[in-house]
Amino acid sequence: MKPAIQRTELRTYYYTPVHCPFCGTRVMGADPADETRITACPHTLFIAHDTAIEYRSARFDANVHLTGLSDEEVAARWKALEGGVDDLTNQVTVADAIKVAAYAPEPSAYGSYYGFAPVE
Ligand SMILES: [Zn+2]
Repeated sequence: MKPAIQRTELRTYYYTPVHCPFCGTRVMGADPADETRITACPHTLFIAHDTAIEYRSARFDANVHLTGLSDEEVAARWKALEGGVDDLTNQVTVADAIKVAAYAPEPSAYGSYYGFAPVE
């Protein structure tokens, strides 16, 4: 199934810091003291990787029917999908949404996923 969300994949420069395409906020690694800290801007729909969803916006939850669910319930949802978090975040249909999927090379094949969409 073709994803509704527009996708960009990083496979060679997968470690490049990802910035919001709409406002330029660096969403991951902006804090030199803690590079795992995430910074969500108003355009951020989700920040996730293959083992967890780090950030879910209310728009994301509403769009993929996760509103009110706990992190554990959401995890059960994506663990039931063949492609896990990648598949779940491909289901986003928010207008003009953009997803950046960064895949570390084999053998790790570890993916990180960032979703953004304009706000009114
Ligand atoms: Zn932004």
